[in-house]
Amino acid sequence: MATPAGARSMGEDRQSPPRMDPFEDTLRRLREAFGAGRTRPAEFRTEQLQALSRFLQDNRKLLQDALAQDLHKSAFESELSEIGISLNEIRLALSKLRTWMKDERVPRNLATQLDSAFIRKEPYGLVLIVAPWNYPLNLTLVPLVGAIAAGNCVVLKPSEVSSSIEKVLAEVLPRYLDQSCFAVVLGGPEETRRLLEHRFDYIFFTGNPHVGKIVMTAAAKHLTPVTLELGGKNPCYVDDNCDPQTVANRVTWFRYFNAGQTCVAPDYVLCTPETRERLLPALQSAITRFYGEDPRSSPDLGRIINQKHFQRLQALLRCGRVAIGGQSDESQRYIAPTVLVDVQEAEPVMQEEIFGPILPILTVGGLDEAIAFINRREKPLALYAFSNNNQVVKQVLARTNSGGFCGNDGFMHMTLGSLPFGGVGTSGMGSYHGKFSFDTFSHRRACLLRSSGLEKLNELRYPPYSARRLPLLLMAMEERRCPCTLL
Ligand code: NAD
Repeated sequence: MATPAGARSMGEDRQSPPRMDPFEDTLRRLREAFGAGRTRPAEFRTEQLQALSRFLQDNRKLLQDALAQDLHKSAFESELSEIGISLNEIRLALSKLRTWMKDERVPRNLATQLDSAFIRKEPYGLVLIVAPWNYPLNLTLVPLVGAIAAGNCVVLKPSEVSSSIEKVLAEVLPRYLDQSCFAVVLGGPEETRRLLEHRFDYIFFTGNPHVGKIVMTAAAKHLTPVTLELGGKNPCYVDDNCDPQTVANRVTWFRYFNAGQTCVAPDYVLCTPETRERLLPALQSAITRFYGEDPRSSPDLGRIINQKHFQRLQALLRCGRVAIGGQSDESQRYIAPTVLVDVQEAEPVMQEEIFGPILPILTVGGLDEAIAFINRREKPLALYAFSNNNQVVKQVLARTNSGGFCGNDGFMHMTLGSLPFGGVGTSGMGSYHGKFSFDTFSHRRACLLRSSGLEKLNELRYPPYSARRLPLLLMAMEERRCPCTLL
């Protein structure tokens, strides 16, 4: 499907001419639904989450085909990283929704002993979710699960780049969700820019840091809170004390998964020259075992999303020296699983996020040098350390910063809904997954319900002020002084 000239909302006639403000009607409709309280009841949220689950199950084959068309994604990878993970997220939200929604009672001070104090998890209102193309289903639907669970109305803006999934989301998803509360709008950078001129109550953006700044600048005009799920270069330290084949198997899988187009993939390996020499044959062996002698014919290896990214990656293949792979085929947008060595820090492959099946190995003198290397760069989204010595892994963890961390494996940490997923610094702000998604899309409203009687107790605080009453009042307001556990 070609990128539309003007944006359309889901369910709208694809042939209708673009209007002056193509979003106005849709946004008004959603705001009215939120104002009427439609999305607030737990029953409504449950129904919508169940409908979302049905959408995934009824259209599994259609979605797998669309992912194969966009990214040559295998059914295995589609299930694992797109459909299954979204269903998992829905299951968790459905089972925990009422617990998450419950008011949270909080301790009181003496002055409020007879009152009710709690945190209400309140929906923000109208939420905008803007998604990228690399996991086009997962990164659209997983945030949506959190936004629905938290009781919001949602505008979804999938990536125009993964056009097959965009089409399914625009044409099929509306049949499942309540259209007065949820809309899919289509478009590229220009339409998104126009969309961002509108006021939202929360914006959840996944994409690159440059566009993240555009989103945050637009949000600042309305003081709209944002979550930014961004990218960067994820380091992977490999200690001398390791089993090279085990490390190579794990690194190969998560570097070349989705043809390397993964925000949490290891962007480069840091190790000593000795470990590099042990790793190279092990990496070659893992690549051959996973993708065969000719990875081009492997059904399990993805393709680069478009010509623009293919050309960008072709240029990166000229950095350093190709030790493994390096072949490409423009007609298929195929790039072989590649390992580069002798790469200089100043070369382009070390200046930008690679986002493709290319893995540079840089050599360092040891752990301290690797940590210094990591710490003089931007804080990454994920950081990996491999060692048979737990102390080494713990040192890397203790002396660096990153959005997430995994010792002795790849992006397995992000499969846990019990861990927040998000970046820090230029790799993003805020987090989601599981309950963290619910919290992200909920305002924590501070509530105190006081008695309308017992006015005598308030005399302490009223003018004319008395120096004698002040210490008493201060004491009554101190939480830790509260002696009464019965009330
Ligand atoms: P992108 O930033 O180009 O696009 C993301 C979304 O923003 C798309 O919907 C696109 O239409 C819109 N957009 C693009 N340019 C825009 C502009 N100038 N103004 C307004 N909107 C614009 O990102 P991408 O290329 O789709 O995805 C790759 C990037 O996303 C990588 O940097 C990757 O690391 C990052 N990413 C991060 C995560 C994460 O969870 N942290 C996950 C996946 C991808």
